[in-house]
Amino acid sequence: MIFSAKNGDFHTHTSYCDGKNTPEEMILSAIEKGLTDYGFSEHGYTAFDLRYCLTLEKTELYKKEILALKEKYKGKINIHLGIELDAYSDHDTADYEYVIGSCHYVTKDGKYRAIDEKPYEIEAICNEWYGGDYYALCEAYYEGVCRLAKKNISIVGHFDLITKFNKGDRLFDTKNPRYLAAAKGAIDALIPLGVPFEINVGAISRGYRSTPYPAAELIDYIKEKGGTFVLNSDTHSRDNIAFQFDKWKKLI
Ligand SMILES: [Zn+2]
Ligand SMILES: [Zn+2]
Repeated sequence: MIFSAKNGDFHTHTSYCDGKNTPEEMILSAIEKGLTDYGFSEHGYTAFDLRYCLTLEKTELYKKEILALKEKYKGKINIHLGIELDAYSDHDTADYEYVIGSCHYVTKDGKYRAIDEKPYEIEAICNEWYGGDYYALCEAYYEGVCRLAKKNISIVGHFDLITKFNKGDRLFDTKNPRYLAAAKGAIDALIPLGVPFEINVGAISRGYRSTPYPAAELIDYIKEKGGTFVLNSDTHSRDNIAFQFDKWKKLI
């Protein structure tokens, strides 16, 4: 299993989507940092939201370029072609070595709204769609996460992304029984897949959080249920590859 690599980072983005650097720049930086394995996981095609994901045309270029780089850097670093698949995307993932399954949206009446873009946006979603009830928003979010149980995924991505703008529990209480029931219910649904949950430090490197996803209490629950973990950076620039991995590897 590639995720047991001694020094790997498998959740990463490039200038193909919303990242800053090209794939080759990322590889050179990963080599410099001493990584043995580096996985690309660009946002897979998601028909209803083309702002951040690969278009169908770019998908083909992406696959081609990563496979060429895999060959070029053979012997220096193991390159893996992966994809980050949203819970609401039907993108065909047959060509990828691994799939990170992540939920970024809530949905209502055929519309989709991303919950991880801006703090004011999550407040607007909650007020406009859930009557200001954050627990109803969280329940809807975790229903989306549960959809991943029906997909062919290799990693569960940033499990509790809904807490991105909730530093210090400013919007909702993550100890609230309704919140915990929704989150733990989703863990119960995903555990049978037998795939690792990621410890994702992306929001730390971008200054939104001081601890990784998922929250410590959920990590404990996943462990209790026999789940495993992989440490990922979710980096969008070469500077944040393997960000603070030394500090957080104790969690896996
Ligand atoms: Zn994501
Ligand atoms: Zn990502």
